[in-house]
Amino acid sequence: MSSLFESLKDSLRGSVLKDEPMAAHTSWRVGGPADLFILPADRQDVLTALRLLKAAQCPWLPVGSGSNLLVRDGGIRGAVLNLSNLRQLQFLANGLVVAEAGLPVTRLIRLCVEKGLQGLEALAGIPGSLGGAVAMNAGAGGQEMSEVVTEVVLATATGEIRRPGGDLQFAYRRCELPPQSLLVEVSLSMTTADPQELQRIYRERIAHRRQAHAVGGANAGSVFKNPAGVQAWKLIDQAGLRGATVGGAKVSERHTNFIVNTGKARATDILSLIERIKETVRASQGVDLEPEVKIIGSDELPARDERI
Ligand SMILES: Cc1cc2nc3c(=O)[nH]c(=O)nc-3n(C[C@H](O)[C@H](O)[C@H](O)COP(=O)(O)OP(=O)(O)OC[C@H]3O[C@@H](n4cnc5c(N)ncnc54)[C@H](O)[C@@H]3O)c2cc1C
Repeated sequence: MSSLFESLKDSLRGSVLKDEPMAAHTSWRVGGPADLFILPADRQDVLTALRLLKAAQCPWLPVGSGSNLLVRDGGIRGAVLNLSNLRQLQFLANGLVVAEAGLPVTRLIRLCVEKGLQGLEALAGIPGSLGGAVAMNAGAGGQEMSEVVTEVVLATATGEIRRPGGDLQFAYRRCELPPQSLLVEVSLSMTTADPQELQRIYRERIAHRRQAHAVGGANAGSVFKNPAGVQAWKLIDQAGLRGATVGGAKVSERHTNFIVNTGKARATDILSLIERIKETVRASQGVDLEPEVKIIGSDELPARDERI
């Protein structure tokens, strides 16, 4: 597999890292190494990487800003593709916005608000990349990505494909992407509105987040989805878990649906705390909580000669 590393390095204009600690790429600051961490320079590089990975039968997955990810301590066998170099953004006529998937959502929303384009201002302050926001159907304050995504471009080992947004079957914090594909471009349909009113909402949302999310440590936002008709934080609070800890992982005192890395947490601490929350809430309130965060990777790091 070192020949795969060499051919990726020789063929791509972007960078390829080996044994890259995922803790450096997740907002929880935990996670073992990815065998390969690929940062394509552009869309052509993405296609080249996918073709080489397919030829080598190497598994891969896209990771954006890692703000909704729990990577296990054994890390990721195979390759991670990170599109943070893909940040092109175009404002076209009639409120159409076309952006590459590595664009930070905070930047996208700030520029839309400045231009008087309405549709995502309630999401102001959500961390992450545009690709991650679409994949997760990120939402806040009554708005969701699904409401503005009209078309996406997906990269596959055989080329790019264009799909209408409706094909993604958006639902609460999820969507369906074709297997072995990743988002490289997103088209958004925004409506025009009074920029001053948008600025007011934007500032209000940022201020709200600063206050509600000041949890004092690395985190991944809401850990659990809200079950129908009830808020997950309330169930966790009522189960008496405010401030509960496992190792370096702690249920936030300020926002009980957040788990904070108090400094030295390992992924296994966070996973154990997630299990404890699920069991306690099920036992005390009869509700099954489903994680909103994506949990990926292996528990154990295999011996070096068994790794890619
Ligand atoms: C403090 C804080 C507050 C948050 N508040 C909110 C909130 O209010 N609402 C909300 O919805 N979320 C919230 N989140 C969660 C998170 O910010 C969003 O889910 C965000 O959209 C994830 O983007 P990302 O780039 O970090 O994705 P990642 O965490 O890197 O990945 C998430 C998923 O998307 C997939 N993915 C990433 N990029 C691509 C791509 N190019 N193509 C295909 N799949 C891809 C990954 O494989 C993974 O399955 C919050 C997180 C934090 C830390």
